[in-house]
Amino acid sequence: MSTTLRWLGTGGGLNVALGNTSFTLRSNGARTLLVDCGFTVPGRLMELNEIETISDILITHLHADHIGGLETMGFYRRFINGHVGEDRPTLHLPTDELAHTLWENALKAGLGHTRDAEGTTIEATLDTYYQLRVGLKVNVEGLPEISFVETPHVHDTHNFGLHIGDGVFYSGDTINLPPHEPDLIFQDCQFGRSGPSEIHISYERLRDELPPEVKKKTHLVHLAAGYERYDAQADGFAEFVVPGQTFEI
Ligand SMILES: [Zn+2]
Ligand SMILES: [Zn+2]
Repeated sequence: MSTTLRWLGTGGGLNVALGNTSFTLRSNGARTLLVDCGFTVPGRLMELNEIETISDILITHLHADHIGGLETMGFYRRFINGHVGEDRPTLHLPTDELAHTLWENALKAGLGHTRDAEGTTIEATLDTYYQLRVGLKVNVEGLPEISFVETPHVHDTHNFGLHIGDGVFYSGDTINLPPHEPDLIFQDCQFGRSGPSEIHISYERLRDELPPEVKKKTHLVHLAAGYERYDAQADGFAEFVVPGQTFEI
């Protein structure tokens, strides 16, 4: 069964013009998985009239360009769509620690109080808005199995890349080179070697260190402003991915 991977945004953390790097996975089944939910993502989903179709959300790490839309999504689904109980979206997280930090350090300030069906103010938790699934394997009905793999990004924070089915890899945000084996590689990058402040692998290292046959299947995402000055295909990559682009996987 074919699965469609569609990029909602492909911008770097500070390149909001391209939208936060995020994509959906859907097949013929009822469920649609959103991978990362940055602060531009709910607006993009509203433009596409798809916000209500998202049954599952997966988070790779806790920067705002990956989680900043979870408050709006939580309130929207609860109050606009009336999705409570079994209808609320499933939130897939790799570890309990990440779930705890996501709530305590990011979402609780906004989502910590809400109203029940009678209009009474109640104390809320992440579980009030989302059905939580914690684990390194993600199985969503009708979609390929996804495995989280931890990768280095920013000192002391946890970031995860994804293996999707047998042949697709998404780096998340990382300083690591991608594995060589997958058929389709989506890799974040930054431009210019920035020494100790590097938090994404540099375009130049990817260009110089990946074998040509791996570069050919590497599609670059999480793009900083000014990416147009580079010619990804001339440098041996598949391309820079633009928002709206789709892949059948
Ligand atoms: Zn990011
Ligand atoms: Zn990040």
